[in-house]
Amino acid sequence: MKRVVIAGSGNAALCAGIAALEQGAEVLVLEKAGVDEAGGNSRYTAGAMRFAYQSREELLPLLRDPASAALDRTDFGSYPRQDFAQDMSALNDGKPLNYLQKILVDDSYDTMLWLSRHNIGFDPIYARQAFQKDGRYVFWGGLVLAAQGEGVGLVEAEMREFLRLGGTIQYECECRELVADDSGVWGVLCMSPAGEVTIRADAVVLGCGGFEASKELRRRYMGEEWANAKVRGTPHNTGAGIEMAMAVGADLYGRPDGCHAVPMDLHMPDFGNTELPFVERKNYRKICYFLGLMLNAKGERFVDEGENFRNYTYAQFGREILNQPQGFAWQLFDSKVDDLLYDEYRFAHVSFVEADTLVELASRLEGVDAERALKTIQVFNKAVDPANAFDPTILDGRCTRGLSVDKTNWANRLDTPPFRAFPVTCGITFTYAGLHVDKNARVLNRDGENIPGLYACGEMIGGIFSAGYPGGSGLTSGAVFGRIAGRSAARDRRRFMGVR
Ligand SMILES: Cc1cc2nc3c(=O)[nH]c(=O)nc-3n(C[C@H](O)[C@H](O)[C@H](O)COP(=O)(O)OP(=O)(O)OC[C@H]3O[C@@H](n4cnc5c(N)ncnc54)[C@H](O)[C@@H]3O)c2cc1C
Repeated sequence: MKRVVIAGSGNAALCAGIAALEQGAEVLVLEKAGVDEAGGNSRYTAGAMRFAYQSREELLPLLRDPASAALDRTDFGSYPRQDFAQDMSALNDGKPLNYLQKILVDDSYDTMLWLSRHNIGFDPIYARQAFQKDGRYVFWGGLVLAAQGEGVGLVEAEMREFLRLGGTIQYECECRELVADDSGVWGVLCMSPAGEVTIRADAVVLGCGGFEASKELRRRYMGEEWANAKVRGTPHNTGAGIEMAMAVGADLYGRPDGCHAVPMDLHMPDFGNTELPFVERKNYRKICYFLGLMLNAKGERFVDEGENFRNYTYAQFGREILNQPQGFAWQLFDSKVDDLLYDEYRFAHVSFVEADTLVELASRLEGVDAERALKTIQVFNKAVDPANAFDPTILDGRCTRGLSVDKTNWANRLDTPPFRAFPVTCGITFTYAGLHVDKNARVLNRDGENIPGLYACGEMIGGIFSAGYPGGSGLTSGAVFGRIAGRSAARDRRRFMGVR
């Protein structure tokens, strides 16, 4: 029987584990964190997964409750492969999609079916991806389902399935080095509570995340300013897997400074507050800027807050905020949009100020030129063209006119008190550069040849995202390439298989 060892216990690693077990391999997962902090960034997520689908009928086999009465009042629309491919292309530095990106799009629905066959249930994301219109839920932006119980539920369900199929896991076991010779990789050197151990394997799958939690690697690959970013997820993804693979000939692949980074509460702890339950940690995020406007320290707007559905802008706007003077901004709203703001704006630990007049509001924006801020809001209000009705379920074209940075959709005047403002900064979610893999998730060396016995999946893979990220694609990418990596690792024949 082939022995597959997997580093990490997030979504990608567990999908690799399940897939390798399906192929009859013996599988051991090695996880650096203890049981309470295992599951990586995947556990922090909302469990939202983007995939191509033709119709509501294709969603039914994925749903935990396909008989729910709410489904009759729901318009899911469709999200064909071409739309997913188009959304990826729009964020791809003007380049055509590469083979990994095409696999992500093409395998997305089939992988969702595979997950549901492995007892992972999904629910419609009514609260964040739909708005109510004429008594119906109308979805927007191509992202419709999340795993039952969000990220925690997803990882727990995957872990149950992994263990049910016969997989085993060792916690507090940090992979530090790949053991390799001329024939390729045949083991991992780990630090466990019992000390240093070498674990032998016919194949090693790296599913141990990017380097977003390493200040040093962020500095090295992304630039000095990234040292100051908050880290939204696990503190354990410090790039060890990437460095281990580079030590045996792999290269960093993809845009080194590319990352998913979003507006986060300026006063959150440097890492997501580990005192809080996982489901609450993500509430530091602040991504309803499309309903209002954002000002920097100079009191100026710096992005088109309504450029597109927030699914297509939120992962880029963290960087935009980091690039502002002192790396912060304020998000401003009036009470007209109170009902539309996500729960994260009502979270117990949220930072905000409130005022009954715009003058008072501007004076309360700490660190901001108040006079200039007031002027910016007044000029913005005058520039709103009310010709189109406000409708957050579509790109409504309700815009400002004549500003140096116009708002192209959902532009409302800030005119209805009380006004609220939320201070935000940049929070890094995950890095885009990683290892170069072939279509079978085999890790490639600097000459483009595969390193026998070494596979990678999830955040570890570079070249899938570059200039941006369509929301919900990270978990799908982890599942698609995790499944492929697990299969390949279990199937590939090795010269020395069973000999060591
Ligand atoms: C707050 C937040 C919300 C998000 N929401 C979504 C969402 O709703 N939808 C979506 O698609 N994406 C979302 N993402 C992105 C998503 O989390 C990632 O794309 C995805 O989870 C990455 O999965 P992974 O399995 O590659 O890595 P991870 O889930 O991070 O797993 C990596 C694992 O490797 C372990 N590890 C690290 N180093 C070692 C080592 N040396 N040895 C052994 N183990 C090690 C870590 O402890 C961890 O368990 C979100 C991210 C965050 C932080």
